[in-house]
Amino acid sequence: MKRAVFLDRDGTLIHERDYISDPEEVELISGVPEALKLIRKMGLLRIVVSNQSGVGRGYFGPEAVEAVNRRMTELLRSRGTELDDLFICPHAPEEDCTCRKPRPGLLLEAAARYGIDLKGSYMVGDREGDIGAIASVGGKGLLVLTGYGSETWRRWRWGHKPHFVARDLLEATYWIMIKEAKEAGMAISKELLEILVCPKCKGELVLKEDGLLCKACRLLYPIEDDIPVMLIEEAKPYEKEGEDG
Ligand SMILES: [Zn+2]
Ligand SMILES: [Zn+2]
Repeated sequence: MKRAVFLDRDGTLIHERDYISDPEEVELISGVPEALKLIRKMGLLRIVVSNQSGVGRGYFGPEAVEAVNRRMTELLRSRGTELDDLFICPHAPEEDCTCRKPRPGLLLEAAARYGIDLKGSYMVGDREGDIGAIASVGGKGLLVLTGYGSETWRRWRWGHKPHFVARDLLEATYWIMIKEAKEAGMAISKELLEILVCPKCKGELVLKEDGLLCKACRLLYPIEDDIPVMLIEEAKPYEKEGEDG
C-alpha cells in the first residue's frame, strides 16, 4: 500500500493571502521545493488537500482555484519538482459537506484513488482542520507556523495535538524523514545529502565529522546513527577555532 504526505495549500505551500484567486499573487513559501523533493525521495505521495470555500461563498469560481493551482504547479516545475495530485473542497461551511477539513472526505477520496494507507500517512498544514482531518483517520498531523500556523498554535484548544510543530514545511519534512529513517533504518545517501538544506536559512550545508554545518547560521546539525537531525532546536552553535565563516 502507498502512503502519502497530504499537504495543505494556502499558508503551507504558498503564502497565505486571504481567499487567493489571482495567479499573480501565488508565491511559494521558502523551502517548499526542497521539501517536496525529499518527500518523493522517501517514496511518499505528495497530495494537496485544500478547503476553498471562496467558491461556495461566491467570492470566485472554481476556475480561479484551477488558475492558482496551475500557477503553483508551474512554479514548482521551474524548481524541478511537482505534486502528485490535488483534491479541493469548494464548499462553504454551511453546506455541511463531507469533504471540508476537518472532515476527512478528501483524504478518503485520495486513499480510494491511490490505495493509500491513511494510518501510515501524514498531513502538514497551518490550521486545526488539517490536524483534525488526519487525526480522524489515524494518521499523523504536523502543524506549520507559516500562514495562520502561529495563530493556530497560540490558540490551540482541541483535544488532539499535532505530532510535531514545525517552523515550515521543510522542517516538518525533516521530522518525517527522521521518523521514517529511524523506522526503516534508511541510510542517508550522498544523493539525499545534496537535497538537504539548512532548515533555518534554506542555505547550503557542509558535511563535517560531527554533523552538517550551515556556515551562514553557524549551526551544526548533529548526525545520529547516520541520520542527520535537521531540526533547528537540535542544532548546536558552531564555534570551531581557526575556521573562517
Ligand atoms: Zn466540501
Ligand atoms: Zn542556515
